Amino acid sequence: MSSAAPPPFRLDNEHLAFRFTATLSDRHGVPVERLPDPGRLRDWLRVNGLDLAGTAPTGNDLDLARRLREAIHRAGTAVAAGTRPAGADVELINRLAGRCGAFPVLEADGVRWRTRSRAPVSDALGVIARSAVETLGGAARERVKSCDDPACRGLYVDTSRGRNRRWCSMNTCGNREKKSRLRGRPAAP
Ligand SMILES: [Zn+2]
Repeated sequence: MSSAAPPPFRLDNEHLAFRFTATLSDRHGVPVERLPDPGRLRDWLRVNGLDLAGTAPTGNDLDLARRLREAIHRAGTAVAAGTRPAGADVELINRLAGRCGAFPVLEADGVRWRTRSRAPVSDALGVIARSAVETLGGAARERVKSCDDPACRGLYVDTSRGRNRRWCSMNTCGNREKKSRLRGRPAAP
């Protein structure tokens, strides 16, 4: 097994902005950086339909992407806690959302993002920033939560009827909790 293989993406969050924040996981434990270099940023944009003009991201693009990611994570954490997001985080999200030149087009099999600008990576980040504006400011706002796993604290929107979902993902954090609970259970006679 190659030790050079980058950690896989976690793509099961239905909200684009939160799927993006999941590219850094276990922020409060042993963090896993899933965007270690500009090439992986490009991979992430591609699998999310945002590799707009086939332009390879630069180191500066990666830096901006990570700053946006952490701004969304902090702002989302504040919303989940019922407090006000920091002004600098809101400003960065709004700036990238506001200068986004990308637009959705309807195609036979669904929606695709396109751009006519010369800054396709910035436009792709703008689409993510707009998703943050909509998720943190719109109808989903009341249902934004942070994962109960103390190492994770990943963001999600709780669409469960009883508003009692606890994990960002049942496949990762939910399973982790279940396993530790089972380990702590007395052995069957
Ligand atoms: Zn989690």
